[in-house]
Amino acid sequence: MMQTQLNLTTMVKHAEKYFADKTVISRTLSGVHTIPYSKITERIHRLAGALKSLGVGKGDRVGTIAWNHHRHLEAYFAIPTMGAVLHTINIRVSPDDLAYIINHAEDKVLLVDEDLFPLIERVKDQITDIEKIIVMTDKEELPETSLTNMASYESLLEEADPDTELDDAIDENTIAGLCYTSGTTGRPKGVAYSHRGIYLHSLALGLKDTVGLSEEDIAMPIVPMFHVNAWGMPFAALWFGTTQVLPGPMPTPQILAELVEDYKVTMAAGVPTIWMGFLQALEQGNYDTSSLRCILCGGSAAPKGMIRTFESTYHIPFVHAYGMTETSPIVTLARLKSYQQELDEEERLELRSRQGMVVPGIEIRGINEHGDIPHDGNTIGELLVRGPWIADAYYKNDRSEESFRDGWLHTGDVVNIDEEGSVKIVDRTKDMIKSGGEWISSVDIENALMAHEAVFEASVIAVPDPKWQERPVACVVLKEKKTLTEEEVKEFLTPQFAKYWIPDRVLFMEEIPKTSVGKFLKRALRDQVEEMLSLSDSSS
Ligand code: AMP
Repeated sequence: MMQTQLNLTTMVKHAEKYFADKTVISRTLSGVHTIPYSKITERIHRLAGALKSLGVGKGDRVGTIAWNHHRHLEAYFAIPTMGAVLHTINIRVSPDDLAYIINHAEDKVLLVDEDLFPLIERVKDQITDIEKIIVMTDKEELPETSLTNMASYESLLEEADPDTELDDAIDENTIAGLCYTSGTTGRPKGVAYSHRGIYLHSLALGLKDTVGLSEEDIAMPIVPMFHVNAWGMPFAALWFGTTQVLPGPMPTPQILAELVEDYKVTMAAGVPTIWMGFLQALEQGNYDTSSLRCILCGGSAAPKGMIRTFESTYHIPFVHAYGMTETSPIVTLARLKSYQQELDEEERLELRSRQGMVVPGIEIRGINEHGDIPHDGNTIGELLVRGPWIADAYYKNDRSEESFRDGWLHTGDVVNIDEEGSVKIVDRTKDMIKSGGEWISSVDIENALMAHEAVFEASVIAVPDPKWQERPVACVVLKEKKTLTEEEVKEFLTPQFAKYWIPDRVLFMEEIPKTSVGKFLKRALRDQVEEMLSLSDSSS
């Protein structure tokens, strides 16, 4: 067979040739714009030309600090197809981590949204390698700032050559993208994505048994383009000629529901926190969401109650998926096999709330101290993953071997695998609770709590216990105008779990601390709980 390179240039050229009239619907600070792919691809050539004229060369890193919109999409393709590296930067990290990430990646140029500019101003004295900051704005003028090395994205594009060649000879193993993990401990770690990995991951997104992304879709990635490349959706969508709805700066649940209704979105992707908010918007407003054929949910466990509400109340099919920054991200996806459709509703729901089957192209194992765990849906072990879109090291990081050993990525996620091969994430290795020598899954209790009609969100952590070593404590945020007592929560859980799983304490909170990508930040929660418990001890 021929050895053609699996690179992003092939993907852009395909869209350019065959999908000129398809569109990107992009929400920016000035409103919602509908832009044909012919324009997007022309601007990709222009941006590549503009970056070259600024001295960006092969292998140079170009950072983006931006929401999901058409300019970010242009950067997604222009930067890698000129042989440089698209470094998407999480806008929600601390200023200290932001400076660290930019310096560690040695970004040469930054593309920054006008409204996110203050983030860069805050760290301007700490960042070392930046030669140019390009502001992405709809306005004529640039923001007022003390920074000097600035340029306007639109002016640069206007002056640039629309016929700038994109490099189709790029070796498929060249780095196309770079993204730092949100990491709940230590400094963020970089993951480099190759052209080949992105290409193959995009194909996987198109499989009917995974996301089934296709030309006929109107896809809305809500998951930020700075978080694992919006789960790879913008890459696949442009290639396949899918209409894309990019929800722009600070999309509220109401804005998202309006976009679904106005543009007849067929599939959308986001983390559970997004979908919780979306459900509230649907409860409060009257939106037509009948166009949605799939909402894709991953990043943290999707509570069973949420899946049920989406499907029974709103008739919106819900697909639960699992992955990591290190895995591009898709690893598993919860779809039923044809013969599992016969199961009763509760059993089907139970299966679909697991993280699901590994996607073709990726291999998984679960291991514990005895070796590979049996596929019995019960024995637990750490999940190991390998495949062509799984990273094999952290970028410029000598602590890589902790996670990448013997040809496998050690995910740090504790799982069981059932007879059919469906994976269930029981916990993170470090969040499992060990009580009296038995393991308790914090995730299972969280999911049960979040199925209570008065509970908005809940997180469960271990606290040290002199007798049992560790005991679970539940932290609960109630929905507006709802009340519950500690006893009522325990009574609600009692029929669902063994006695020793019932949390010793239930603490009610205003909110649960979250990471920059909306996951429960258990480290901060533990500190908060420690303080609350010591206060209650000293007052009793
Ligand atoms: P990140 O790299 O920020 O995407 O985080 C990856 C981690 O998120 C995984 O290692 C899991 O612990 C967690 N995660 C991702 N998807 C799911 C899911 N569907 N259910 C439970 N945990 C998940």
